Amino acid sequence: MHSTSATRHFSGSYAEARNKFLDAARNAGADIESFELDSHRGAFGEALATDVARLGAPEATRLLIVSSGTHGPEGFCGSGCQVATLHDADLLARLAEAGVALLLVHAINPHGFSHLHRTNEHNIDLNRNHIDFAAPLPVNAAYAEVEPLVLPQGWPPGPADEAAIADYIERKGLRAWRAAVTTGQYTSPDGVFYGGTSPSWSNRTIRAILRQHAQAARDIAWIDIHTGLGPYGHGEKIYPGRNAAPDLARARAWWGADVFAPFEGTSASADVSGPVVSTVYDECPQANASLMGLEFGTLPDMEVLTRLRADTWLRRHPEAPEAQQRAIRQDLRDAFYCDNDEWKGMVLGQTRVVLLQTLLGLKAC
Ligand SMILES: [Zn+2]
Repeated sequence: MHSTSATRHFSGSYAEARNKFLDAARNAGADIESFELDSHRGAFGEALATDVARLGAPEATRLLIVSSGTHGPEGFCGSGCQVATLHDADLLARLAEAGVALLLVHAINPHGFSHLHRTNEHNIDLNRNHIDFAAPLPVNAAYAEVEPLVLPQGWPPGPADEAAIADYIERKGLRAWRAAVTTGQYTSPDGVFYGGTSPSWSNRTIRAILRQHAQAARDIAWIDIHTGLGPYGHGEKIYPGRNAAPDLARARAWWGADVFAPFEGTSASADVSGPVVSTVYDECPQANASLMGLEFGTLPDMEVLTRLRADTWLRRHPEAPEAQQRAIRQDLRDAFYCDNDEWKGMVLGQTRVVLLQTLLGLKAC
């Protein structure tokens, strides 16, 4: 099948995505650095790494960060956006002219990207792992009740399992259900949306990247690209930053009225604990930070959740038949990456608008 000029930037595997990213970064004249995950290999035996490409002066005071693959196979989308950006001569020229440095962080969770798990090599959801581990762990008291509903003994769930979930939603509401399941939990290492009990390799890596690349910056914008929530092909602008009125006002001034804040209850996302982008507050206290989770819709939310449940169930049941394992892997990939030109075109168009808005916002700082 012939790909159009825009959709050729997307890839069918982690290894292909990594190669395209590194090639595009070299061609654009970027400084490249790779952080290898030595402890694990990819699904095809390949090396795993988070790769960083930087354009612009080291002393630039304005920095635009675009990251991908926080949630493994969501990286198929984010990687395509990053590669397209590296081929976007007009956008790169505007960044240079505005004195904005560009830092692309490819595959924050390379293990999950390659093996098609939303979580990392230890079943940690990286967007629940960036908390202060010196403080008491966040408590999600409702999780214990919902875990047996989310992860039943057998897969697929039977009518009684689905009835139990419907009953919970009936009693407590859909929002309470979603919060209990997805906010994050720190008690069940093989459960869903597990945050871990210490900083993950990816956590330490992203902090090292910020210490190396973001210390001269006075104004930082960070777009972390995700998929799997919201209407098909729509890019929801989620505000993942701290609950501070001036920060949220700046986000809406740059990106529009459709910036949704989970703590206001308007987002497709629950108000999660410990997103990756929150590291900017710890590592770059000298900078104003403008943060966005750019979340592209794929399949209906409940379908995505069902496929995530299957993936987590499979970790608990390695004895499952091989055909079922393959089907669960493929379903998971399809839940986070719509492999068609229409969806990719929607993704690239909206991403480009967001990046242009961001560069104009930074330029005016
Ligand atoms: Zn995500």
